[in-house]
Amino acid sequence: MKITVLSGGVGGARFLRGLREHVRALPGDHEITAIVNVGDDMWLTGLRIAPDLDSIMYTLAGENDEVRGWGRTGESERVSGELKAYGVGWDWFTLGDLDIGTHLARTSYLRSGIPLSEATARITARWPLGVTLLPATDDEVETQVHVDGGSMHFQEWWTRHRAALPALSFEYRNALQASPAPGVLDAISGADVILVAPSNPVVSIGPILAIPGVREALLAATAPVVGVSPIIGGAVVRGMADACLAAIGVATAADAVAVHYGPRSRGGLLDAWLVDDADAALVPSIEEAGIAAGAVPLWMRDLDTSAAIAAQALAAAARL
Ligand code: GDP
Ligand code: CA
Repeated sequence: MKITVLSGGVGGARFLRGLREHVRALPGDHEITAIVNVGDDMWLTGLRIAPDLDSIMYTLAGENDEVRGWGRTGESERVSGELKAYGVGWDWFTLGDLDIGTHLARTSYLRSGIPLSEATARITARWPLGVTLLPATDDEVETQVHVDGGSMHFQEWWTRHRAALPALSFEYRNALQASPAPGVLDAISGADVILVAPSNPVVSIGPILAIPGVREALLAATAPVVGVSPIIGGAVVRGMADACLAAIGVATAADAVAVHYGPRSRGGLLDAWLVDDADAALVPSIEEAGIAAGAVPLWMRDLDTSAAIAAQALAAAARL
């Protein structure tokens, strides 16, 4: 079975780790490909940073910091300390030393003309991830947040301002001039199942869908498309995605996100949508909107609960 997953960073990484675990126990050969958001990527102190690709790589490699929730385990911050002493970079944004190693490797490839997709393939080859990571695009498509009086990179809004400055809109800068990275359209058209991870709909999944050709490929795909809600009981599970949803006029509710993605039968993204048991009452209204829906436990507390969610997503796909 070929499984293709649209994914952001931390939420997507946990889901992919559960999916890999579930699929390992299935008979037969299976391939998992993740199409990963690059909207959070940026240049900082001469380095190309790709937070969502790296979150997934570290998590699948077992190299992530479980306590902090992001970055490498066993990390130190000596280089960032030096950069701060020089007054270079963002003093509110700390890059770990091991993490800087990843950024240096990526940047050196990019500087020698190797595109991000190939750089990612070479970097991830270090670990047996069991998942192929494809950046949504090789082009630099960065999410810009418009606020009262100006705009800033998503990372500044999210990390420096903790998403507390009211966002007026999000712009996926340069998206319309971008093309899907090699392998992305094939991963969609050749999939047996397409899953949408419980990732931020606005700044993780949104920038992937904004790349010309991706939505068309998803509409034309023969595989069913099943999404997992990142919203449980009217709240985001981790992070500040509610601030993003508010800015685009979507309620922080599992049914509202499903309707925002829309049914594939009417030009949207989804054939089916999984909500948490706590949101079981929303199932009829989601089905009325033309999306098959089911309620199952959606808290990714550990590997087992994440694997169970992945199993439910594949079961929902099989029912379609
Ligand atoms: P980011 O790029 O690091 O922000 O990560 P993603 O966009 O992939 O995922 C962030 C989203 O994951 C948030 O909006 C959370 O609501 C969602 N999320 C985090 N943990 C869980 C969980 O245990 N269950 C579900 N259903 N969603 C979760
Ligand atoms: Ca992200």
